[in-house]
Amino acid sequence: MNKRDYYEVLGVSKNATEAEIKSAFRKLAKKYHPDVSKEPDAAEKFKEAQEAYAVLSDENKRKQYDQFGHAAFEGAGAGGMGGFDFSDFDFSDIFGDLFGGGFGFGGTRNSKRPQKGRDILHYMNLTFDEAVFGCMKTVNIDTSEECSDCHGKGGHGVKTCDKCHGRGTISKEQRTMFGVFATQSTCDKCGGSGETFTSTCSTCRGTGKVRINKDVKVKVPAGVDTGNRLRLAGKGDAGINGGPNGDVYLEFKVKEHPIFKRNEEDIYLTLPITITDAIFGAKKEIPTLYGNVKLTIPNGSETGDKHRLKGKGVSDPQTGRKGDMYVVLKVCIPKKLTRDQKNLFESLSNTDLENQSEFKEYQKYL
Ligand SMILES: [Zn+2]
Ligand SMILES: [Zn+2]
Repeated sequence: MNKRDYYEVLGVSKNATEAEIKSAFRKLAKKYHPDVSKEPDAAEKFKEAQEAYAVLSDENKRKQYDQFGHAAFEGAGAGGMGGFDFSDFDFSDIFGDLFGGGFGFGGTRNSKRPQKGRDILHYMNLTFDEAVFGCMKTVNIDTSEECSDCHGKGGHGVKTCDKCHGRGTISKEQRTMFGVFATQSTCDKCGGSGETFTSTCSTCRGTGKVRINKDVKVKVPAGVDTGNRLRLAGKGDAGINGGPNGDVYLEFKVKEHPIFKRNEEDIYLTLPITITDAIFGAKKEIPTLYGNVKLTIPNGSETGDKHRLKGKGVSDPQTGRKGDMYVVLKVCIPKKLTRDQKNLFESLSNTDLENQSEFKEYQKYL
């Protein structure tokens, strides 16, 4: 059996950087992942890429490979004939952002130990009000459930594994320059259980799972914000070999409000006021999340002056504690004046408006 060169598999040069290797693998993983790929030989291509990546992304293994080629890993581990055992390799940082975390990859398929199903990350858009006050939502999730034909086992009719004769392990003799070693490895045909099926389940093609698309009702708690995640325990992919289901993580994206800006639990509102209101002071009607309130603006107000409305912010989704609202003043200088306004401002400009304390210090240096 001719194994392809790992660099060739990933389509990178011999002196590719770590980042180039990672990015090449990500592309291939996306293309050939058995759960998503429609290509006929996706599973093999995926496995080949995984193996290449497991070696080339590890500095030591890459060195060994550069020196000895595939011979560096021959007979090592439980990967089967001349295979390289990458079942302990942590692909999660690659698959984490590709498929949404907790990704169980193909190498686990022939193991019989119970495993948690895959977690699923799902994004949910919310309006500002939905996020602030909470809401009921329905999410549609592509996931998997236990195959009902084989009850998740993947086949029918149990028989003793003919490869390991029911022992679940295979002994191999390995000749090295230091002598002959006997190594025990998990049987790759039965995954260590010592049993196989007389027929593979045709409904799930041996995976024990079937893809489904389901609607899940979700109560979004009041106060969530963009980037917050809500965990829906057990709503993810079906567990493997009787393991628990994975979880669904909902990540929220909250639409901005036209006038309310949010900073954690506090709400900021920029309130435009006229130049005369700033000078004389005024009572203003202010919109808040909980209806209008009256706010007294003192005379001599300036742009940037902040007024706190206690408890008019957003609830903390964890503690329920409410934030505050801040009204930030913005004095609007009129850009278009009527003839009357122009005349009034002109007569005003003929008065000494620089008789304020702010001007005094500055004028000393003129
Ligand atoms: Zn089945
Ligand atoms: Zn076996």
